[in-house]
Amino acid sequence: MEPVLKLEHVTKRFSGLVAVNDLSLEMPKNCIHSLIGPNGSGKTTTVNMITGVLPVSDGKIFYGDTQISGKPVFQIARLGIGRTFQNLKLFSSMSVLENLMIGAHQMTRIGLIQFLVDLRGEKREEKLLIERAEEVLEEIGMADLRHEKVKNLAYGKQKMTELGRALMMKPDLLILDEPAAGLNPSERREFVDILLKTHEKGIDLFLIEHNMDVVMNISTKITVLNFGAKIAEGNPYEIQNNDEVIRAYLGD
Ligand code: ADP
Repeated sequence: MEPVLKLEHVTKRFSGLVAVNDLSLEMPKNCIHSLIGPNGSGKTTTVNMITGVLPVSDGKIFYGDTQISGKPVFQIARLGIGRTFQNLKLFSSMSVLENLMIGAHQMTRIGLIQFLVDLRGEKREEKLLIERAEEVLEEIGMADLRHEKVKNLAYGKQKMTELGRALMMKPDLLILDEPAAGLNPSERREFVDILLKTHEKGIDLFLIEHNMDVVMNISTKITVLNFGAKIAEGNPYEIQNNDEVIRAYLGD
């Protein structure tokens, strides 16, 4: 079966520094694929290249059979790749519902500014967006918080709102940057539960994650980076028992 995502010999150089070095990987369909590695190993840079935030220095990236390296961020998003950010990109003085609706502006014909102007108007697009937002709120278990301002929410719910925003555009592939970071154990369990439900609905997940409990519990495939290069790949059992991975993490 054709992979969902394929990186072919991808390299990223920042002047003298090679942040990602000749990285090839394939993400199979129906997969939760985690990218792990010590700090500075090139994970965020890799995700930034996949989502079009950074151009590749060398190599190619494919989404299905479409080459996406070289395409701008909005085109890649429209192909069905959603993303959440480590540092939440929410409007804290606005409600959960409004944040979800703004997150979906990419799939409407209207631009963000116009959308904000029209937010309380009677546009047809707005009705569709509200319907979609209500669906997503149910999916993430936040229907009762729809009118709460984001700044009044616990951090776990803010992260859930960020997830909801990414789900608004019905991505086929969702890229999550450290979804469990900053969450307490019960928030983490709740988040993982929602992620698994999201996956069961047919969304492939590609995640950067530091929390090894989360990685080992939910991943179907794990790719390990160290100093920008792939040092191991496999299922959780294989990765946990890989000597090079253990050395990389222990800093041997
Ligand atoms: P990780 O996400 O695994 O912590 P990063 O992808 O953030 O790693 O960083 C990989 C390497 O690239 C690091 O050495 C980092 O300092 C460097 N780097 C990342 N972004 C830039 C940039 N915009 N300019 C220069 N160096 C960068």
